[in-house]
Amino acid sequence: MVLSKADFDIGIIGGGPAGSAMASYLAKAGVRCVLFERELFPRPHVGESLVPSSTRVFKDLGFIEQMEEAKFPHKFGAVWTAEDKKGGYDHDWDGLAPDCHADVRFEERVQEGVDTNYTYHVDRAKFDLLLLQHANKLGAAVYEGVKVTHVDFSSTHPVVHFNMGSKEMGVSVKMVIDASGRQTLLGNQLKLKVKDPVFDQYAIHTWFDNYDRKVFAKKDTHRDYIFIHFLPISNSWIWQIPITDSITSIGVVTQKKNFAKAKEEREKFFWNAVSSRPAIADALQKADRIRPFKDEGDYSYAMRQLAGDRFMLIGDAGRFVDPIFSTGVSIALNSARFAHKDVLAALEKNEFSRENFATFENTLRLGTRNWYDFITVYYRLNVLFTYFINEPKYRLDVLKLLQGDVYDDATPPVLEKMRSMVSEVERNEKHPWHALLGDLTSDAFRPRV
Ligand SMILES: Cc1cc2nc3c(=O)[nH]c(=O)nc-3n(C[C@H](O)[C@H](O)[C@H](O)COP(=O)(O)OP(=O)(O)OC[C@H]3O[C@@H](n4cnc5c(N)ncnc54)[C@H](O)[C@@H]3O)c2cc1C
Repeated sequence: MVLSKADFDIGIIGGGPAGSAMASYLAKAGVRCVLFERELFPRPHVGESLVPSSTRVFKDLGFIEQMEEAKFPHKFGAVWTAEDKKGGYDHDWDGLAPDCHADVRFEERVQEGVDTNYTYHVDRAKFDLLLLQHANKLGAAVYEGVKVTHVDFSSTHPVVHFNMGSKEMGVSVKMVIDASGRQTLLGNQLKLKVKDPVFDQYAIHTWFDNYDRKVFAKKDTHRDYIFIHFLPISNSWIWQIPITDSITSIGVVTQKKNFAKAKEEREKFFWNAVSSRPAIADALQKADRIRPFKDEGDYSYAMRQLAGDRFMLIGDAGRFVDPIFSTGVSIALNSARFAHKDVLAALEKNEFSRENFATFENTLRLGTRNWYDFITVYYRLNVLFTYFINEPKYRLDVLKLLQGDVYDDATPPVLEKMRSMVSEVERNEKHPWHALLGDLTSDAFRPRV
């Protein structure tokens, strides 16, 4: 194999949703691109519940048919639950159900460019494999089991280095797209990474067979929604994501301080956390765990730059924040959607300096900042988030964010309103919600990278 001939236009590191979508966009446009993936697919991956803005990318790439053929469960909406009274959410506030239950259905808001009233929950092993194969079918060269070690930017054409057996090899390209996920290959190499000063969550998750998803379903249709169950432990929650008719992914997300160092202790933590919601614990005891527990640690960070001379960072390689609103895959896919346009223009001009990628960088920054603020409000005051969903005058604006439409408003008015209400609750100690404030401070709202 004469890979060292160095004759690809674009080199992509990583074959997750960001890398495969990018390779598909570029290959579809006739660009000669090569993608390196360190694993052999299929491989398991966290991040199983999508939001509807993903559909635009599937449509662009001609990938809807595969999504339907794969029979991934259709996701029509989301439900949030909290323990009645005992969970610390006891309140007396107009517009908020006593049990803090909130649910949304995506079809409540017409979403431009999205013509289905559902999105999907996916088994990532299968989904990532299908998308990678799709990129390959569209013409991208795909090398699996190839771990990129570094990129050499010292000559005009960056050289992507990797090991093949005992040999180190390199491929030169006109520019590099880092889609290596939380490995953040280029972010580490170029020292661009900034650890998030506020969020330090850990998660532990697994799959169960025969978990009764009807336990919290107020309507039969809720059965295949994503459920987010608030826990009475600060800044902690459980996800419940349908994988098939009978298999359900369950994960507990919490802060670092709650998370034990020893592996056995972590499993104990999972069961303790779950037991703070007896109905969930009961349903899980009756179900069968079919996968080992897996944990993911301390995962929030940003990058000082999302692009530079001859490189771009997309998906998790560019930024990661808590997955409370199931945003990661949509951001990965849409970052490829925005990035590929700048890449095509750069190829056309044969100009690869950072300013050529400004549209991508600005759009992504705006979108992820909106996500970040939304997530911050949620952690600061869970009850406010539920209130906004249940309040008719704000509902559709919140739904817009939950659908993944975060890229077109510099500051969505509903986020401004949420922020000012949080400040009001912080200032007023007699406010019925004051005691419910989480331990994140409003400092979390200050502008950052
Ligand atoms: C606890 C938790 C829960 C989550 N829940 C959700 C959810 O419900 N919904 C949602 O949308 N998102 C969720 N996410 C986020 C989601 O997992 C990611 O945002 C998404 O997978 C990002 O896609 P990506 O393509 O950027 O990165 P990845 O999917 O991580 O893909 C990166 C790929 O790069 C490869 N790679 C890494 N290093 C190298 C290298 N050196 N050489 C070659 N290949 C390399 C990896 O093997 C991997 O296949 C969650 C994340 C966490 C941590």
